[in-house]
Amino acid sequence: MRLSGWGRYPSVEASLLAPKDAGSAARILQNSEGPRMIPRGAGRSYGDSALATRVLSSRYLNHLIAIDQNALTIRAGAGATLGEILRICVPQGLFLPVLSGTKYVSLGGAIAADIHGKNHHVDGSFCDYVNRFTLLLPSGETAVCSHTENIELFRATCGGMGLTGVILDATISLRKVPSAFIDVLSIPAANLKDSLALLRQYNEKQYVVAWVDCLATDTALGRGVIHIGSHSETGKLTFKQKRKISVPFTTPGFLLNRYTMSGFNHLYYARHRLKRSVKSMYFDDFFFPLDSINGWNRLYGAAGFLQYQFVLPDHSAESGLRETLDTLSRAGKGSFLAVLKRFGPANTNLLSFPSKGVTLTLDFKYEPDLLPLLDILDEIVLKAGGRHYLAKDARMSAAVFRQGYPQWHQFKAIKDQIDPTGILGSLQSERLGLTKPGMRSSE
Ligand SMILES: Cc1cc2nc3c(=O)[nH]c(=O)nc-3n(C[C@H](O)[C@H](O)[C@H](O)COP(=O)(O)OP(=O)(O)OC[C@H]3O[C@@H](n4cnc5c(N)ncnc54)[C@H](O)[C@@H]3O)c2cc1C
Repeated sequence: MRLSGWGRYPSVEASLLAPKDAGSAARILQNSEGPRMIPRGAGRSYGDSALATRVLSSRYLNHLIAIDQNALTIRAGAGATLGEILRICVPQGLFLPVLSGTKYVSLGGAIAADIHGKNHHVDGSFCDYVNRFTLLLPSGETAVCSHTENIELFRATCGGMGLTGVILDATISLRKVPSAFIDVLSIPAANLKDSLALLRQYNEKQYVVAWVDCLATDTALGRGVIHIGSHSETGKLTFKQKRKISVPFTTPGFLLNRYTMSGFNHLYYARHRLKRSVKSMYFDDFFFPLDSINGWNRLYGAAGFLQYQFVLPDHSAESGLRETLDTLSRAGKGSFLAVLKRFGPANTNLLSFPSKGVTLTLDFKYEPDLLPLLDILDEIVLKAGGRHYLAKDARMSAAVFRQGYPQWHQFKAIKDQIDPTGILGSLQSERLGLTKPGMRSSE
């Protein structure tokens, strides 16, 4: 079957194996012959991190095992999505401490990418709340990994993009919430300096995110709207199944162009421009605004799109962001979505993305002239001391990766030790030099 990530670029012909239980998954690995294989969760990474000729899906390993109300933990199969976990937890006044911008992410995928939310600056990333997980090693054996058992494997697997084994289940910490609603303060920002100043000003608040109009130029460059959220004290603890609209077919790529995007950005900014506003929002609307449009990734046309996310340290953030936005503006490339957030300090996982500073996320429709432009942006990011998010990547070079992730060689040493013949590997890991291209080393 033809398989791709959420960006629909690139796509490959792959065979998809979807074991129903841990025993079947182990047998697949033990009898593994032929080309490399990579675990896959819900396929919400944008590029090629869950792509290979053979793909081992954990979607059926989605059982919810137990909630411990005293310890405030949940144990669930790796294929369970964050949405499925919230459906059980929210009515009990429990909440996941870190959420990505979509609830259709599996627990295994959340650990493998060590995902971050709108609260990294105060709460850290997903794996900071993972107490333990069961890992099916490339050999077919299992290992329990936690902060006290198989610690090196824990640090390599959290953020390790599926290269160390298949996560079968995990126990994670939850937090108590009084309501399913979020109180949201929205403030307009006139330009990049203003946007960054507001992010800094509200750095103590729990959820902080800025939407940026990256098509605005000159004195309005980097203008945006900052949304600051906190759990409401009022409102019911209900889980509502949201109604969705669907994009029924892939739209022609030309519909998303500089003019339509600029029009959208203009309207969005104009809605918030005049004054700050306060409202109470159902948590789903605040955390997952795009989930209400089923298949929104088809809006970018048949060639797909790339998401580009990087983080810059505080000292170079403003100049690096300005240079990035200027470069895009000069190239006439716009991003439909542009999201700015602050990160707190990095954790000790070897390939986790977040590190102290400011992160910007951009979406680009795939066009042949896009890739050379992204190479230029890579140089700006590296010059400013930043790095790129592997869960969004589809094209970064091994050299760029290595500069951004200096602990890559420690990761590779662990990977080579537990997977000497290279059973697990993705298109991405080959491109980044973490696994050898082509067939496995024993073949
Ligand atoms: C609309 C949208 C918004 C997003 N917002 C955010 C955000 O705010 N913050 C953020 O951090 N990310 C965000 N993401 C990215 C997403 O959270 C990550 O890509 C996540 O890894 C996707 O999980 P998945 O289950 O879909 O995994 P997949 O895309 O299927 O796989 C991703 C990686 O995880 C590995 N993997 C999956 N399952 C397992 C398993 N059982 N065992 C071992 N490895 C496994 C794969 O090998 C692959 O390397 C967003 C994505 C979308 C589409």
